[in-house]
Amino acid sequence: MSGLDPQALALVPVMTEWRHDFHAHPETAYAETRTAAKVAQLLRAFGWEVTTGLAGTGLVGTLVGSGGDSRVVGLRADMDALPIGESPGRAHGSTQAGRSHACGHDGHMAMLLGAAKILAERRDDVPGTVRAIFQPAEENEAGAKRMIEDGLFDRFPVDRVFGLHNWPLLEAGRFALRAGPVMASCDLFEIVLTGKGTHAAMPHLGRDVLAAAAHLVAAAQTIVARDIDPLEPAVVSVTQMQGGDTWNALPETVTLRGTARAFAKDVQDRIEERLGALVEGLALAFAIKADFRYERRYPPTVNEPEATRLAQAAAEAVVGAAGVETDPKPSMGAEDFAFMLERRPGAYAWLGSGAPGQAMLHNAAYDFNDAVLAAGASFWLALVGRFFRR
Ligand SMILES: [Zn+2]
Ligand SMILES: [Zn+2]
Repeated sequence: MSGLDPQALALVPVMTEWRHDFHAHPETAYAETRTAAKVAQLLRAFGWEVTTGLAGTGLVGTLVGSGGDSRVVGLRADMDALPIGESPGRAHGSTQAGRSHACGHDGHMAMLLGAAKILAERRDDVPGTVRAIFQPAEENEAGAKRMIEDGLFDRFPVDRVFGLHNWPLLEAGRFALRAGPVMASCDLFEIVLTGKGTHAAMPHLGRDVLAAAAHLVAAAQTIVARDIDPLEPAVVSVTQMQGGDTWNALPETVTLRGTARAFAKDVQDRIEERLGALVEGLALAFAIKADFRYERRYPPTVNEPEATRLAQAAAEAVVGAAGVETDPKPSMGAEDFAFMLERRPGAYAWLGSGAPGQAMLHNAAYDFNDAVLAAGASFWLALVGRFFRR
């Protein structure tokens, strides 16, 4: 038995049209001007109050229900596309070379807009206030953080905030969300080793940074293996090593870059501290100079238990208890909704979008699975209903 909202189901052709339009006009971080204008125009047409210009292209829609309930629930969708060229062959294909909605944020917007339209039509049945938060720059550029710095939660207070992301690794129409950490922190590091370049046949006349870099890559593996509690997940990946121009000369410098992931702040602290110590010790051991930069990008995404139960109940109302995974394995990927969850209790859910031939996120062949639009919009509607019923 399907618990899809009949109005959401009826709205699928319209949501699909919006989704395809967003898809054809992808805009990357902080450049979502056409996208934001379309979202604002639609929300206003539905009867929502709209404030634009948070974090540049971000916007907040507010719908005050007629029940006089003072509580406020926030629903968030991300708007940005990726600098990834898309594989050709779809009618609604990207019109922008080298850019595409390869993470499905086009679908996220369409599902929240669908719910927003229906909520406005049902305003008399909405007890309190609903805010639709459309944020820019989820991919790497921390649009959520900038919206918060622009006064998001001061100007538009919410009691709880929720996010929804499609997940191709999960069967289409299933939901997955758990209390506690669901996505990892994401930090980046850069290490520049400076020695003395020399003729490759006379290494003793220089200071070899490549040999030092090789030791450093190996030593970095011991952080997770030897410095972190084995019961705490963590990743340290060196992803770039640049140095040298030819085969018969040793270079003066080598640059290493990489990323670290964790689910807890003390693990993040430990990785930064240990990596710094390794770099320092290595420079001393090899008599070279080392510059170390460690940058905290996204914190871990941590779901608050009570809000998680609420969102799980909403998902169960849509697809039944068997369709909801309440203890999925967290992902070592990162998500900037983490910044919102640092400020307000809430939860971040995955909506399965997997189907035969469905590509994974951030892939040129990826396309949002329109078959889940109704489930996503129904989830938002069920969530709002449950939020005010508490
Ligand atoms: Zn993404
Ligand atoms: Zn995404």
